Amino acid sequence: MALIRCPHCHKRISNRVKACPHCDEALVELSPEELERLASRRYKRQRFLALNLSYLGLTLLVFGAIWWYVAEPQGWVLPPPLIPVAMIVIGAADYVAARAWMLWLGIQRRRSG
Ligand SMILES: [Zn+2]
Repeated sequence: MALIRCPHCHKRISNRVKACPHCDEALVELSPEELERLASRRYKRQRFLALNLSYLGLTLLVFGAIWWYVAEPQGWVLPPPLIPVAMIVIGAADYVAARAWMLWLGIQRRRSG
C-alpha cells in the first residue's frame, strides 16, 4: 500500500481505495502514474505563480527604492515620500510571502514524492 494525494482535495489517501474518503471523488479511472502527473503539474503551476509573485515583489521594492532616491530632496533622506515607501513595504512583504510559499511547496512536494 502506498500513500498518494487525492487529485481533487489533495489530502493523503491510500492508492487502494476506489473513492477518496475525504471528498468522495472516484479514483478508479486514475492510475498512480496519472495521479503523479496531476500532482506534478499542480506543483509546477503553483511554483511558477509563486516565482512570478516574488519577482513582482522584488520589482516593486527596487522601483520604490529608486523613486525614493531620485525624489526631492535627493538621496534616501528621512522622512521618506509616501508612495515609494508603500511600494517598498508591499514589495518586501510580497517577496517574503512568495518565497515562503515556494519553500512550503517544496517541502510538501518532497514529503509526498
Ligand atoms: Zn479527495
